[in-house]
Amino acid sequence: MIVSVTMNPSVDISYHLDEFILNEVNRVAHVSKTAGGKGLNVARVIHLLDVPVTATGILGGTLGTFIENQLDRDGIAHDFLKTNQESRNCIAILHEGKQTEILEAGPHFSTKEKNEFLTHFGKFLKAGNIITISGSLPRGFDASVYTEMIRLASEQQIPVLLDCSGKVLEQVLKAKKAMPDLIKPNIDELNQLLGKKLHAENLDGLKTALADPLFADIEWVVVSLGAKGAFVKHNDTYFQVKIPSVQVVNPVGSGDSVVAGLAAAMLQGKSVEDIMKTAMTTGVLNAMETQTGYVNKAKFDLIFQQVEVIEM
Ligand code: ADP
Repeated sequence: MIVSVTMNPSVDISYHLDEFILNEVNRVAHVSKTAGGKGLNVARVIHLLDVPVTATGILGGTLGTFIENQLDRDGIAHDFLKTNQESRNCIAILHEGKQTEILEAGPHFSTKEKNEFLTHFGKFLKAGNIITISGSLPRGFDASVYTEMIRLASEQQIPVLLDCSGKVLEQVLKAKKAMPDLIKPNIDELNQLLGKKLHAENLDGLKTALADPLFADIEWVVVSLGAKGAFVKHNDTYFQVKIPSVQVVNPVGSGDSVVAGLAAAMLQGKSVEDIMKTAMTTGVLNAMETQTGYVNKAKFDLIFQQVEVIEM
């Protein structure tokens, strides 16, 4: 099965307001509350593809229970480490075509929770499993938590797909202690990592960038390019992956859906080409839906047939 890790899950609240007035009482009629966090999107999309998945990470309090109840409702297996600290809320206020976000930092953990989680994580390290790790770390944890998880998994030859960004991604890669089998930066995250300003159209530039020694020990580097598809390095081979143009409804969560597609196709033992095609298909399918981290499997074949892989 696939084990999808979310270290800092949230209950995402959307408030839909005609008008948002500061320093006044704003009453909200349209509210949605959903289990959020990149790894939970990954788990949901894998589940929608009918591939076995378990969601894990750390959660606690009544919001932790809310997240577990939502996963139960959706039929997604889960096994989180429980903490006595309350999980966080992330609030999006949608008003007058704008989006104002209020993101709680969430619980603050110490070495005690780090060690407890690494022990908990150990039970997923069984032959045949694939691990996905998505998103940011809770306060008190640094990149060494991810590095440790990758090291423990690689000792058992269990592939790890890592989708994080900024300092944490940089620190994991530069530590050179244990490398993930796959990373999936989008173009902005790649630029940030390398201190470059590459555009999605600059395929030669992307190829040169991915030849950086930083990526030498990573089997897959999948750079997602939004509507332009992806540019991929698999070992020493480079690919441009083109996607069809579709009616885009909500691209939020498309990157998570790409990770879900990559992991699902790997678990199913698909070819290198079909792994890339599956990942682009799930990314595109998510962009066609309203719900974040959702794909309509009935449209899978239609999109898959239109994805094109070109060796560079
Ligand atoms: P992230 O969500 O991590 O920022 P991207 O924006 O690169 O990642 O999107 C990931 C994938 O989702 C793309 O490679 C593509 O397959 C699909 N996707 C994203 N935006 C669009 C779009 N506008 N049209 C079609 N597919 C899209």
